[in-house]
Amino acid sequence: MSERSAFARLPKVDAVLEAPRLRSLGVRRELKRRVVQDAVQNLRDQLHAAARADTNNAGEVAIPSPVELADTVARQLEQWTTPRPKRVLNATGVILHTNLGRTPLSAATLAAMTAAGGYCDLEVGLADGQRGSRFVWLRPFIAALMGTQDAHVVNNNAGALLLACTALGGTGGVVLSRGQMVEIGGSFRVATMAAAGGCRVVAVGSTNRTHPKDYEEALQGVGPDSDGRPATAVLWAHQSNFSQQGFVREVPLPELAQIAKRFDVPFIVDLGSGSLGTGLPTTEPTITEYLEQGADLVLASGDKLLGGPQAGIIAGRADFVQRCRTHPMARALRLDKTTLAGLHATLAEHASDAVPNLPLHNMINADNDTLRARALAICEQLGWEATAVIDSVGAIGGGSLPTDTVPSVAIIVPTVRPSQTAKRLRLGEPAVVGHIVEERLLLDLRTIAPDQDSELVAALTRVPSGS
Ligand SMILES: *Cc1c(COP(=O)(O)O)cnc(C)c1O
Repeated sequence: MSERSAFARLPKVDAVLEAPRLRSLGVRRELKRRVVQDAVQNLRDQLHAAARADTNNAGEVAIPSPVELADTVARQLEQWTTPRPKRVLNATGVILHTNLGRTPLSAATLAAMTAAGGYCDLEVGLADGQRGSRFVWLRPFIAALMGTQDAHVVNNNAGALLLACTALGGTGGVVLSRGQMVEIGGSFRVATMAAAGGCRVVAVGSTNRTHPKDYEEALQGVGPDSDGRPATAVLWAHQSNFSQQGFVREVPLPELAQIAKRFDVPFIVDLGSGSLGTGLPTTEPTITEYLEQGADLVLASGDKLLGGPQAGIIAGRADFVQRCRTHPMARALRLDKTTLAGLHATLAEHASDAVPNLPLHNMINADNDTLRARALAICEQLGWEATAVIDSVGAIGGGSLPTDTVPSVAIIVPTVRPSQTAKRLRLGEPAVVGHIVEERLLLDLRTIAPDQDSELVAALTRVPSGS
């Protein structure tokens, strides 16, 4: 078939739009037109590419009829307008799985977010009817909970870092050890985020070793790393996703706090995964402990070890928090009402004298005997051998602590093609995300809530065993 006739057979946009399947789809006409135009253009590009490669090949590009193309476009539009992100069952054993949405929210958190979704007393005092601030009631609560003077909240920890460094970096900027120049994922780096608002970042020390003298020289504007301008704040960043061993030295946090104090400059501590302690089997100090060790400000994520919605907490000395709160950038990083409500509900759990009733804490604290009993029950319902249940290793994950693993229990899916079966499970309803270890497809029970077991069974029933 000649190239010319292939181009001539491209469906006409109006003919596709008139096909009954697309005409009856309740979507704005200009949106339909745009998608049809793009689809036709895509076919035209394919024909051109084929023609360039080999003039006889143009005929090999399959040209759909207007009705066929209308079907494709309608399916595309239906996909676009189906609620996303899709819910998934996390069977990876990684509790704070960034790609799967970090921490699942508790029912109480979600209920608070829904309630705030309508009209709410976000910025009005109901007693006097006067305009107020959206943070008034949360501020003293967070400050007391974290054992410090004041607190402010922004969109996420990256925003907290950007705001704190921009508002407090001063004329000379922050000094940061090269051993703490962390890349947190998605190729975002602590030093780059700290600098994004115009704050100078003075790197000192080497990858493996940084000494008190390195900081002191930067704060005096002398020494090999200095351009003569003294740094006017100190930044300490958690090595959240890696660990160093061997010939390594970082200045201990209390000692660094003393140095910042001596130079009378703000000491900002970027934790990422700040915890409030209760019910977490980690050796990581709590936010309160970091403050007690001398941090002027700590920065923490809402959706890591706090177990709440995405947010960034800035807690510490009142004058420094105030400078962050009143900086123009604070307005650009402001929390919305539903997140504020969700964060509040989460922190209310942390005020409890028991272990917080949050999915994160429940998953971390689930005991292996219970997980094993659930795994065996699932296998029994599926007719799978009990030997499919094995001990596994889960992780707290999510830029908490790289070495924080948790013993767990997993089910080996009986399949000879693990990656294909894994894909079928991901594309199932509900989607199940497992992980492949040593050519075996494992479904880890630690990150599956007990009330999701029946859904997991249903999803697995739909994938024939041995497939
Ligand atoms: C995770 C992390 C961040 C970023 O926090 P987000 O809440 O994801 O913006 C910044 N710094 C450190 C040390 C982290 O671990």
